[in-house]
Amino acid sequence: MKAHRRLRFSPWLLLSLLLLSLSTRADVGYLDVAQLGTQPLSLTTHVGMLEDAARGLTLEDVSSREVSERFRFERVESSSFALGFTRSAYWFRLDVGNASDQSVTRLLVVDNPRISLVDAYVPDGQGGYRAWFTGADRPQSGKAYDNRNFVFPLHLAAHSQQEVYLRVESSIGLLVPLQIWSVQAFHAYEREDYMARAGYMGIAIAMILFNLMLFIALRERIYLLYVTFVLCAVCALTIKNGMAPDWTLFGLPLNSNVVYYSGASLALSGMLLFMRSMLQTTRLLPRVDRGLLALVVLYLVSPLIYAVALPEVSRVAIFVYLLTAFVMMGVGLACALKRQRSAYFFLAAFGLLILGGATTTLRALGILPTNAFTEDGLQIGSSLEMLLLAFALADRINVMRQEKLQAQARLLQTQEQLVETLQRSERELEQRVVQRTEELQVLNSRLETLSLTDALTGIANRRHFDEVLAKEWKRAQRMGEPLALAVVDVDWFKAYNDHYGHLAGDSCLQQVAQTLASAISRSSDLVARYGGEEFVFLAPTTSLANAQGMAEKLVQSVAALALPHLRSPLGHVSISIGVTAMQADAKLPPQTLLQRADSALYRAKALGRNCVEVG
Ligand code: GH3
Ligand code: MG
Ligand code: MG
Repeated sequence: MKAHRRLRFSPWLLLSLLLLSLSTRADVGYLDVAQLGTQPLSLTTHVGMLEDAARGLTLEDVSSREVSERFRFERVESSSFALGFTRSAYWFRLDVGNASDQSVTRLLVVDNPRISLVDAYVPDGQGGYRAWFTGADRPQSGKAYDNRNFVFPLHLAAHSQQEVYLRVESSIGLLVPLQIWSVQAFHAYEREDYMARAGYMGIAIAMILFNLMLFIALRERIYLLYVTFVLCAVCALTIKNGMAPDWTLFGLPLNSNVVYYSGASLALSGMLLFMRSMLQTTRLLPRVDRGLLALVVLYLVSPLIYAVALPEVSRVAIFVYLLTAFVMMGVGLACALKRQRSAYFFLAAFGLLILGGATTTLRALGILPTNAFTEDGLQIGSSLEMLLLAFALADRINVMRQEKLQAQARLLQTQEQLVETLQRSERELEQRVVQRTEELQVLNSRLETLSLTDALTGIANRRHFDEVLAKEWKRAQRMGEPLALAVVDVDWFKAYNDHYGHLAGDSCLQQVAQTLASAISRSSDLVARYGGEEFVFLAPTTSLANAQGMAEKLVQSVAALALPHLRSPLGHVSISIGVTAMQADAKLPPQTLLQRADSALYRAKALGRNCVEVG
């Protein structure tokens, strides 16, 4: 392979070959192949070519004098005859000879496994001819030499010269690279050539198996599509390289051009399906996606068209393939512009493949010269593309994992926020409950105070007094202590009201209540408004004498107020008090105290008022 390329690239070798061919033609009239080194000899400058448009000429015809004169020596500079898409058959004639003293065997190589029909008429070593009828569209078992290309052994006796005839015809683009090799050099080239193909196969099989395993593990359709596409591409390339086994498909040899083009179509449909999935065109470019599906359908039915009319449609097919390549690049670009991550990988991968495919196609059309890159372009591009796409699929796993982690983190964050919010609202609720409870307590105590307070005078009311009396009565019982009670009544108050008015009466009652309340020194003592202009004074642990003293002080204090009372004989407001004190008795109700104090008050009134009476 390497040797092969070196020949093609070296201008020095080309020049020497040219000189060699000129000298041989001029001197002996045939190409002497006795002195052939490790390099092949390109025959494009040595063979005569004849177009047989009607495809009807036989060996007998072309070797006849009239027809043989129509052979043209075109001196093509490139290493192959690029005849394009032609329905004609082409004949090549090579005058070959052995100027040495020993017989030699050389290999005539047609370095393109895609030629449909290759008929060769080669010297058999005894001065006669051996005919070989082979080609891509014929069974491989008909080959003269078992190689992916078409190889014919030439046996040349010492000092012999003979003509070699080759007839080619193809249903697809016709490209005829012709070379002569020494057997040994060709064997070395063969090894390198097969190594290169095996390398490609190895990559492809690894990718297929790896992604098949990924599909089994992840159950994602995209991996299966990738496997399908690579499998189809590998099959198509294997056929393209003339390496498929000698089987038949629906009566067609597996290596035939119909099967090759069908394989290419299937590979392209696989590629399109994979691209749709990878770039998510259904979502990103829905309209284009429908067009892509239509293209897939076209490719899937194309094998039927090829089976019926490959020679007629092969040129169009090549252009449709090229168009598909542009469409795919366009879709890739559109998705990349939409910032789709896999589109970058796709563009790089398919860019390489398309570059490879385009060079191969342009070489087939005769636009690009044949060299290692143009010949194996598709294969090199395909390998790189497969690897890059597998890398993209691996990247997908990475992206998916990162997305999963991010989603988990987001979920965790949301949960934490939720918990925090819940805790906060719980705290707020607790605070509010505490606040409300405090407010209620304040309100309750205020209500209680209100319910126990006299609205007019602000001192304890009768209810309060009754409660305290009952409590103190029990306490006095327990402790065996005396409990003192005074009943206070304002003198001539009806007359006061009548004279001064009810409002003035209220004000008078307030002042009297204040005076009574401020006379209290012990916290256990209680002054309350008992009703109307009557007040009560309760003094626990107080003897009758002390209670009497307190009562007299109260009478004096009110008199000292000197509130004018014109209807009183005294001329000012005064009070009368009935006071009592007793040891609490469990058998008696607390009202006993009240009754005793009340009767004492009655007496005080009777005695002229503004005084204290003990009961
Ligand atoms: P006495 O010296 O015998 O006690 O004569 P009195 O006029 O005070 O006798 P009485 O107990 O019959 O009169 C009480 C009067 O007190 C009747 C009522 O008009 C007046 N009074 C009762 N409650 C109030 C009150 O809340 N405000 C005012 N302004 N007067 C009241
Ligand atoms: Mg009264
Ligand atoms: Mg009174």
